[in-house]
Amino acid sequence: MNIIAIDIGGTEIKYGLVSLRGEVIFSSSLLTEASKGVEQLLEKIYKIIEELKNEKTIGIGVSATGQIDGRIGKVVGGTNLIPGWIGTNLVEILEKKYRIPAVLENDVNCAALGEMWMGAAKGKENFLCLTIGTGIGGGIVLKGELLRGESSVAAEFGHIQIVKNGVQCGCGSKGCYQSYASMTALLRLAEEKIGKKLNGKEIFNEVHKNNIKYKEVVDEWADYFTDGLATLIYIFNPSLIVVGGGVSKQGSFLKEIFQKSLEKKVMKNYLEILEIKMAERGNDAGMLGASYLLLEKIK
Ligand SMILES: [Zn+2]
Repeated sequence: MNIIAIDIGGTEIKYGLVSLRGEVIFSSSLLTEASKGVEQLLEKIYKIIEELKNEKTIGIGVSATGQIDGRIGKVVGGTNLIPGWIGTNLVEILEKKYRIPAVLENDVNCAALGEMWMGAAKGKENFLCLTIGTGIGGGIVLKGELLRGESSVAAEFGHIQIVKNGVQCGCGSKGCYQSYASMTALLRLAEEKIGKKLNGKEIFNEVHKNNIKYKEVVDEWADYFTDGLATLIYIFNPSLIVVGGGVSKQGSFLKEIFQKSLEKKVMKNYLEILEIKMAERGNDAGMLGASYLLLEKIK
């Protein structure tokens, strides 16, 4: 038995087959070509399903960018990255076409569940997941379940205001968390302070070479990151925070920077029970989480 798992990102669609025990049996990827719109995207999804579907397939789990009402499998908001995507009820479309169960959920929520099922959050019931990328995405798991909120768009941590009258954000507001603590923000900060355009990997390489200037930039950026974390810790009192995105490759090195910074801001008893971990399932987390939700739906 297997599940077809699809993870739709802004630039890439990852897809594959996942076993009922959470093993990724097969995986591959193709370009999203988001600007070509929803019809093109649907064609790609159909092609993937028709390539992978066999007599052992029990359902389709889809993780995707954007604000998604996972209870009904519909895209309800977000940016217009994929024209026509908002308003699409993918679950309805797929279940009608293929006559097997399907789910659709936001990618960070899926990553959180994927990490809970087969990664860094195994055995944890109350934890948060934050992904650092172009923006900052969030997922909240309480008592082993996603906290979705009234209209299913909870955990948009990236738009919490942390600086008054700060940098303009795409959401219309100023000073949003993601404008200071995302990967985009780190690159901007490095360019402002040092006057050189480097990518994330290059910045961390400089830090590993004991380049003090870059260490200061990373420390400042991490300080913004933990400003947001401190607020979230006081609200949720989590036992674990999983940090995902490209920076998770920095492992314990970055984890220690975050931890040190947090110690200056958060009361001890909150931190004593809190673990910070880098995501372990990287590119597979979205597919795993979508598969986990599919299994929950069938149950
Ligand atoms: Zn914003």
